[in-house]
Amino acid sequence: MIVRPQPKRRSEKKSRSSAIDDMRLSAYDNRMKRRPSKTMECRKHGLTAHGQRNDRGRVRWRCRKCEYEAVKRRRRKLKEMLVEHFGGKCIRCGYNTCLRALSFHHRTRSEKSFSMDVGHRVKWETLLKEAEKCDLLCANCHMELEEDLAL
Ligand SMILES: [Zn+2]
Ligand SMILES: [Zn+2]
Repeated sequence: MIVRPQPKRRSEKKSRSSAIDDMRLSAYDNRMKRRPSKTMECRKHGLTAHGQRNDRGRVRWRCRKCEYEAVKRRRRKLKEMLVEHFGGKCIRCGYNTCLRALSFHHRTRSEKSFSMDVGHRVKWETLLKEAEKCDLLCANCHMELEEDLAL
């Protein structure tokens, strides 16, 4: 059976996504409330909020800004590994200069399980499997392709 998404009215769509936002936000709030936080001196950021972290049974305070930067670095690393794994360059023109300008384009829209942004909390294997349904393209080729498809 083919399940076609029902056309949504704009207002409906908006209220649904903002409801999800609210849910996420309150879940995040709750997590943060449960986690103690205190203002401490970070060598890099000065006085900032620090969150508690459990490090093999020992409780440590860690700067939230540093933590956020670490997440960004991890994402970048993940993308580097992914791009490297799939040849490291645009399959149409060979462009390989800027990592941010390279992206994974799903060959068949219907096979898409999730978008290939590395912000997802998914396992490396899951990302690899998803990326196999994609072509690695630079931003220009990606746009050209989308344009062709739109015609
Ligand atoms: Zn810091
Ligand atoms: Zn290209």
